[in-house]
Amino acid sequence: MPDSSSSSPDSSPGAADLQRRLLDWYDRHRRTLPWRAPPGGRADPYHVWLSEIMLQQTTVAAVGAYFRDFVARWPTVQDLADADLDDVLRAWAGLGYYARARNLHKCARVVAHDRGGRFPEDEEELRRLPGVGDYTAAAVAAIAFDRPAAVMDGNVERVVARLHAVTQPLPDAKPALKVLTSALTPAYRPGDHAQAMMDLGATICTPRKPKCILCPWSGGCAGRRAGIEAGLPAKRPKPERPTRRAVIFWLVNGKGAVLIRRRPEKGLLGGMMEFPSGPWEPRPDLPEVEAALDSAPARTAWKALPGIVRHTFTHFHLEMRVAVGRVGYEPPLNGRWVPVDQLGEEALPTVMAKVARHVMAAAGRGPAGSP
Ligand code: SF4
Repeated sequence: MPDSSSSSPDSSPGAADLQRRLLDWYDRHRRTLPWRAPPGGRADPYHVWLSEIMLQQTTVAAVGAYFRDFVARWPTVQDLADADLDDVLRAWAGLGYYARARNLHKCARVVAHDRGGRFPEDEEELRRLPGVGDYTAAAVAAIAFDRPAAVMDGNVERVVARLHAVTQPLPDAKPALKVLTSALTPAYRPGDHAQAMMDLGATICTPRKPKCILCPWSGGCAGRRAGIEAGLPAKRPKPERPTRRAVIFWLVNGKGAVLIRRRPEKGLLGGMMEFPSGPWEPRPDLPEVEAALDSAPARTAWKALPGIVRHTFTHFHLEMRVAVGRVGYEPPLNGRWVPVDQLGEEALPTVMAKVARHVMAAAGRGPAGSP
């Protein structure tokens, strides 16, 4: 619950006043987004669901092109359900966790095949769909079906923490912020209210330097009144990310094709293609190639390339040494040979695309950017 520094009910405008001010502001300043219905229109539930899944890990600006591409290729949830999973994974590359893309495809199949192509309207039923958590269920219920759901994303948490001067750090403050957001959610135009909250957080109540002077709530904002808005929401310090280190094996056959293999379905980069590698372990130094030979895909003369490939995942940094080897025949390996110039067509995660660019650059085959 809000702490002692929260505004008292006597000094704040009531919820109805805040709601009215926010909707007035939204009617004048709403963002135009590719998945958003025009004023007064009904949003397509497929578009809302798709955009919200995409937005979980990246920004509105980055999602726009992906969203347009997806709806051009798969205009309906039925089309997405019928799509080949590898095509969906490829189209998803760059949008973050591939588990989300697999769940997206699974969810499309459930909606298309078990529900006649219609998304449920109720938050609880939405939550039963693959890959749909509390946030997405609330967002789809509110935006697509105008249900009074409390849609909690980072923007909304920030706005509400400031409005009520909640100083308890995140993530501990989440339940209190949800209660406050629910209390603020109107029965009238709840979908527009949810989108207005998001827009306010994205354009006015921004993480740095909130533009309070332009804010429809500036008169009733407890955080601003206390002069603490810029420091809210407070956050628990994050633990430092460890660094894991590994050897990646780039094996080329007599026809100039490189070996890739599929990662296990579960876990990090699940189901994505990769170059074989030794274990990704936390260790103080990069392993020598010899130390990783047990994991090498073939017995051959491996040569370490100069330089290090670096990538950062949510929970750890990864540093990689790349070893290059050749085989003159095609040994029975767990994987697939792909001509180097066709690697761009594979569902390679960003980390592996970096490895490919590193090898190309070392070989002098074009700029470090074109595998
Ligand atoms: S007044 Fe400032 S801090 Fe308060 S909600 Fe508006 S933009 Fe955010």
